[in-house]
Amino acid sequence: MEKTFLMVKPDGVQRELIGEIVSRFEKKGFHLVGAKLMSVSKELAEQHYGEHKERPFFGELVDFITSSPVFAMVWEGENVIATARQMMGSTNPKDAAPGTIRGDFGVTVGKNIIHGSDSPESAVREIGLFFKEEELVEYSKLINNWIY
Ligand code: UDP
Repeated sequence: MEKTFLMVKPDGVQRELIGEIVSRFEKKGFHLVGAKLMSVSKELAEQHYGEHKERPFFGELVDFITSSPVFAMVWEGENVIATARQMMGSTNPKDAAPGTIRGDFGVTVGKNIIHGSDSPESAVREIGLFFKEEELVEYSKLINNWIY
């Protein structure tokens, strides 16, 4: 089953949106296999956002993501990578549809609440950066018979 990496960013944690966000993915029918509240080091932030290192906002992005804890998660489910991106909404909250996480709770691109992997390759890379194998828990839930 497909897995994705999702992270409530420092603004989402400070605004007490962890529960709201976890709840949306639970209610959708996705399956939580790993989660932790953690501080992101400068090294981890620079690796995670490596593809943006030449962009003008890179320094601010690294400062922001290391400024306060994040809530890192791994979710599992059919098409979870693309569906989670739809549930998050557009990168800039001003363009994000109502009903999406960024559309409902965000205002500016620099504080857009949540990160989610954008491809299967990013998901594998990001899960590996943030989680050790033993931190991911494989278990079954009977309710999955009513989702699939
Ligand atoms: N970002 C920013 N300014 C910009 C573009 C992006 O601060 O002009 C931040 C924003 O927080 C975004 C992150 O950089 O979530 C990564 O950008 P990406 O294009 O990968 O968007 P995402 O995959 O998060 O939707």
